Amino acid sequence: MNAAVLAGPRAFRVETVRDPAVGPGEALVRVEAAGICGTDYRIWTGERRVGYPLIPGHEFVGEIVAVGPGVTRIAPGDRVAVEPNWGCGTCDLCRDGLRNLCLARTAVGIDRDGGFAELAVLPERACWPAPAALASDVLLFAEPLAVVARAVGRADPRPGESAAVVGAGTLGLLAVQLLRERGCRVLAVGRTDRRLGLARELGAEATVAGAGEEVTTAARRLSGRDGVDLVIETAGTAEAVELALGQVGFIRPGGRAVLTGLPHDPARVEFFWVVRREIDIRGSMIYREEFGEAVRLLAEERIHVGPLLTHRFPLSAIDAAMAAHRDPASIKVAVFPGSAGR
Ligand SMILES: [Zn+2]
Ligand SMILES: [Zn+2]
Repeated sequence: MNAAVLAGPRAFRVETVRDPAVGPGEALVRVEAAGICGTDYRIWTGERRVGYPLIPGHEFVGEIVAVGPGVTRIAPGDRVAVEPNWGCGTCDLCRDGLRNLCLARTAVGIDRDGGFAELAVLPERACWPAPAALASDVLLFAEPLAVVARAVGRADPRPGESAAVVGAGTLGLLAVQLLRERGCRVLAVGRTDRRLGLARELGAEATVAGAGEEVTTAARRLSGRDGVDLVIETAGTAEAVELALGQVGFIRPGGRAVLTGLPHDPARVEFFWVVRREIDIRGSMIYREEFGEAVRLLAEERIHVGPLLTHRFPLSAIDAAMAAHRDPASIKVAVFPGSAGR
């Protein structure tokens, strides 16, 4: 098969490698589309350490072409979205049902070969069947939507509440829609007017660019009180965390903040106001039981992802795809291993 093999930092080789073998309980997936996110970018640059050589890619969908002995739930011909993380199943955290927090978690495209290839082998439980008619361009968003479904669930939104979403990238634009689905009124906070325009098209009632007083003014205006009921932080930068937690009057006293972007740098937050206002801060790590819900939301067309897929590349252009991920004009970039141009 053809694969994008990472041999070291910024060193992809698109080459022919041996097809992966399917073992008991496993399925072979022909990859139709694989999205790129910040984690893939950090793997590419070498900031995130992995063992080389590695085929990265964890946000992918495709068709089952073969199954190993003992596989009963899926069959060749099924279209699937891949849940690319699973717990060890035996540690205290896994036994307590906290499998997304497992320290011995397996992450596809990080700990083992992933979806930047024509074929990938996965355990049966990682494959979520989807309707045959659902386009891979849409199903591709199952993984980020599962992240968002958990974050929104952690925020415990109630109909009629006001919510703010920090960050207007893929996760933020999905969060805006899911909060709307849950009956919230949503303020989107971002940096560029183009993305905020998209947030409005996708259901945000209000948007604001920047930081500081504009943001708290917008939060007070939308909520009609001293800040919104809940905030979901999706950008994963120190500035975004500082904005989400550090602005007095952004979250109302007694409100909730869910952080789902992974901030790699320390943030400076005045915790005086977190205590004084009893702000409830909740982390949200990938997904636990939300993957099926994400596939269902997409299949039922309750979430719109068309405008979010901005760039498509064949596998041979993986370097260009990585560069496009950093282009401010891009939202979701994906490679299509089955397409021409190898
Ligand atoms: Zn990702
Ligand atoms: Zn475990």
